[in-house]
Amino acid sequence: MLITTLADLHQQVAAWKAKGESIGLVPTMGALHAGHLSLVHAARAECDRVIVTIFVNPTQFNSAQDLASYPRTEAADAALLAPLGVDVIFAPAPDQVYPAGFATQITVSGVADPLEGALRPGHFAGVATVVAKLFGMTQADRAYFGQKDWQQLQVVHRMVADLNMAVQVIGCDTLREADGLAMSSRNARLSAQARAAAPALYAAMTAVAASVTAGGQADNALKAARKALLDAGFERVEYIALHDGETMQPSTDLSRPLRLLAAAWLGGVRLIDNVAVTPAP
Ligand code: AMP
Repeated sequence: MLITTLADLHQQVAAWKAKGESIGLVPTMGALHAGHLSLVHAARAECDRVIVTIFVNPTQFNSAQDLASYPRTEAADAALLAPLGVDVIFAPAPDQVYPAGFATQITVSGVADPLEGALRPGHFAGVATVVAKLFGMTQADRAYFGQKDWQQLQVVHRMVADLNMAVQVIGCDTLREADGLAMSSRNARLSAQARAAAPALYAAMTAVAASVTAGGQADNALKAARKALLDAGFERVEYIALHDGETMQPSTDLSRPLRLLAAAWLGGVRLIDNVAVTPAP
């Protein structure tokens, strides 16, 4: 069922809650692909009711152009979700989410400060605020997020813990194309030439992870990865860096959950990815 107003959503959620049914939430910005669908499958397996939200949240975009050019494919999204047993697709208009007079913002510090937080000022405040609102609107018991957006996942974990939100946050594996490219709504914007070069990102990242876990010098491996990306045709590497996977601070401590994260531009499209850096047992 497609719901577009808060009033209708509240009515549906109240009916489920009255029966004691559990609610799983999958927040998305639409332009759905198999990565999103894997979150829906996880929610479907664990919850009585599943709500997929489709909302291109204006407050998390840094540029009006990026917001305007973000793909919107409502009909195709509905067709992809139809066979999956989703109970509600909630696709509100912006004024349902941000009515006149809206004045509250959730700012997470620490985990939200480096990497995406440093390069996209205000991005995580936009994410945290809309996610908190979606938790409130849907009264979800569980919410499913992709590890593809690793730092975002840590920001949501931090917010939920700090604000005692009664929702369990579940991070799901990154789905990749056969050649390793992480699935993303933005991949649709890649030219054929850029698409052919795009797997270099995951290849470079797995090479760094392998080198570091084998005891190699992190700086050398990261330098080689930057060069490999530029050689493959990437215009610019914004960052490729090792950070603690929970605190998100720079780290090379293999005794902690270590994460390699990258953002790079290819054919005018900004790609992000991350991989675990785990020593062999
Ligand atoms: P988005 O529509 O890009 O905001 O993404 C909605 C959710 O899908 C987020 O929790 C993302 O992390 C997740 N997601 C995006 N791409 C993938 C992927 N390739 N694999 C798994 N989850 C993903």
